[in-house]
Amino acid sequence: MKKNTIRLSRSIVGQREAEAVSRVIIDDGYLGMGSEVRAFEEEIAQYLGVPKEWVICVSSGTAALHLSVEAVTQPGDEILVQSLTYLASFQGITAAGAVPISCEVSSQNIAIDLQDAEKRLTPTTKVIMPVHYASNPGELDSVYDFANKYNLRVIEDAAHAFGCTYKGRKIGSFGDIVCFSFDGIKNITSGEGGAIVTVDERVAEYIKDARLLGVEKDTKKRYSGQRSWEFDVHHQGYRYHMSNLFAAVGRVQLKRFEKEFKPRRIELARKYRSVFNNMTGLRLIGGNPGEIVPHIFPVRVLNGRRDALRQFLTDSGIESGIHYKPNHLLSFYGAGAGLLPATEKLYEELLSLPLHPGLTDAHVNYVIDCVNEFLHSS
Ligand SMILES: *Cc1c(COP(=O)(O)O)cnc(C)c1O
Repeated sequence: MKKNTIRLSRSIVGQREAEAVSRVIIDDGYLGMGSEVRAFEEEIAQYLGVPKEWVICVSSGTAALHLSVEAVTQPGDEILVQSLTYLASFQGITAAGAVPISCEVSSQNIAIDLQDAEKRLTPTTKVIMPVHYASNPGELDSVYDFANKYNLRVIEDAAHAFGCTYKGRKIGSFGDIVCFSFDGIKNITSGEGGAIVTVDERVAEYIKDARLLGVEKDTKKRYSGQRSWEFDVHHQGYRYHMSNLFAAVGRVQLKRFEKEFKPRRIELARKYRSVFNNMTGLRLIGGNPGEIVPHIFPVRVLNGRRDALRQFLTDSGIESGIHYKPNHLLSFYGAGAGLLPATEKLYEELLSLPLHPGLTDAHVNYVIDCVNEFLHSS
């Protein structure tokens, strides 16, 4: 087993995705944003149980965050966000000229610590961005209560959470503004891509224009096969639309999700959980496994042994990851070592084990055996 590295994550794509792309190239020949993107948006809306006007596909999850932030803030506005998230959450904020305010997380479920966030409120705080870390939406009701209390918008970074539920309702089917990522290794992929889901008509209209250079009502024209020659522009825009090629891949992935990807991800995580629950030297991340379709499987390695376990796994042919380096430690975001002790402690403990639907039971058993062997050696 040692020579064949077990990968941390990977895209699960094949013949059906290839045929869908081929259909766009051979039969249609229109590679820009057109009928495939419209269909993907409609199918996502149907899956979530929301009106199709709520769903807007873009070129990446980062673009989804950037446009969402820009839609509801002015430059200089502050956004409460956990430091322990992928860099994309922070870059999406600063791309729009807003200011990320790094917050602590709960060490139980790695969701934003609202008590800590409360201390960081200022008159220019406009948004709270909960990140559904490892697909866990945390106490989302409390986040919305907090936002109501302090008159903030909510932008959910749901990049990990496609297909998850909170109290029985699908993430994206309720709330303010929800951003998904369809990059290569997320719960479903379109190659690269992302989507914004929002109930707010004004935000939706803004983003539909902004993804196409700000050209007024261009989305409607493209979806009826026309181009805009006579138009007006009211604000900055970008080339952030999704291509038909990518949407074609995403549509196949969405069809495969419920029967194939979702049960496999849940099953693999259940296997890890059943063995690692109560194992000395290791802590699982909290959350409600019944509602989560896990994108990654991080654990906390206690007693300063994370790096040694990581090395042991590498030597055993097993890839692992560290999700994530806290953003407040990065030069661009202030290099504030020492400012968020809980987050910095977690950063030293977190280790992500391989998780993707391509793993076999034998792979997972081997990972479990290796972790076991390491933890029981001294
Ligand atoms: C993947 C990811 C993003 C960004 O998505 P891209 O599609 O890669 O741009 C944002 N936030 C988190 C937490 C992510 O994991």
